[in-house]
Amino acid sequence: MVQAWHSITLWKRVLIGLAIGLIVGAIIRYGVGLEPAQAAHIGETYIYPFGKAFVRLIKMLIVPLIATTLVAGVTAMGDPKKLGTLGARTMALYLVTTFFAVSLGLGMGAIVQPGAGVVYDGADATAIEKVEGKMDSANEAGGLVDRLLAIIPENPVAALANGQVLPTIFFAIMIGVGILLVGPPADPVRKFFEAAAEVVLKITVMIMELAPYGVAALMAWVMCKQGVEILYSLFWLALSLYACCLIQIVFVYGGLIIKGILGLPLKQFFRGIADAQGVAYSTASSSATLPVSISCAETNLGVEKSIAGSVLPLGATINMDGTAIYLGLVALFAAQASGIEVSLTGYLMVALTATLVSIGAAGIPSAGLLLAATVMDVVEIPPEQSIQVIAFIFPFDRILDMMRTATNVTGDIAVACTVAKWEGALDEEVFRSEAKVR
Ligand code: ASP
Repeated sequence: MVQAWHSITLWKRVLIGLAIGLIVGAIIRYGVGLEPAQAAHIGETYIYPFGKAFVRLIKMLIVPLIATTLVAGVTAMGDPKKLGTLGARTMALYLVTTFFAVSLGLGMGAIVQPGAGVVYDGADATAIEKVEGKMDSANEAGGLVDRLLAIIPENPVAALANGQVLPTIFFAIMIGVGILLVGPPADPVRKFFEAAAEVVLKITVMIMELAPYGVAALMAWVMCKQGVEILYSLFWLALSLYACCLIQIVFVYGGLIIKGILGLPLKQFFRGIADAQGVAYSTASSSATLPVSISCAETNLGVEKSIAGSVLPLGATINMDGTAIYLGLVALFAAQASGIEVSLTGYLMVALTATLVSIGAAGIPSAGLLLAATVMDVVEIPPEQSIQVIAFIFPFDRILDMMRTATNVTGDIAVACTVAKWEGALDEEVFRSEAKVR
């Protein structure tokens, strides 16, 4: 039995875990006659800790993985000048995919009108206060200049210790460039980082064996806590978001980029990334999924270490297409629910703001929603009302967050494959072969 279970490829086990989690959660919530509050308590106390343990295990790897893989990646490039083209291509692709995402979200929001007739001012004062507190800490990072300055770590050890992704990326690139410039005398350091990167990746693969159970626990917890009640209150918003995200995943990343531009088989791409999508969906955090995305890109899709290790950590923090779709939709949702007409300029401003906010949002649960006040401001929703809207959506946000995170992560990996192919760093044999997928 155990052997039969392990002979199933990992991505299928992850999907089985996801389905079992949903079923178990639904049974607890609806099948055994418990009150919703009791079901939520069972989920929180007895099921969530298992999911949380899995999330902590992968989070544990984020900093060591970036620090080692990125240094090893830069040294594998052999020439620091290559970083320039790599960076430019990556940023351009991230912006183009986000442009598609925002247009999709706004188009869908204009057609489906998810906010029409919705009354959102029922949230009580404590819920609003709670949301306000969270919004303040989400916005804490300060203005654009401060955020840009913060990328340069004053103290790299502190950046590593606090798990700050962008400063860690910055420092790791500098070390890599330093090693390349020093040349042969720096060989021992180079070899150390290469070997350390292998070790951390190996640990990722080991921890991923626990993914089916972690994912099952997280899904059961969400189901116990929220049930499917979201379908009543936010039906059209949820439907629009899921539809846009699926279109973005299947047609923009799949059809347009992987098949259209790169001429690679879609089936292998989606199989290769299923673990990452499963983990993204159940954790609702691009950052927590990062180690899995890197491992999928390298092992299953043949993306060279130098690309996976640089493009993906950057993507996990700045490329959030699912979040961009969502921000556009929420702005229109709020405008429609408040009876505000949005002009063409309004749409363009929302598109621009949603793109910038999605770049600034952290890859953690609910980050997108907590920053949504900025896009609502563009369509002239007064601040007190934006808080009402956020407090109204907040209790159900997890189910929406799961889908946008899966989209965010798929976008990062699609861009990593593209950059890899353009840089001659994609092993197509690995990409095309089914045997490689664990
Ligand atoms: N949870 C998302 C992520 O980690 C961000 C968001 O809230 O939209 O990618």
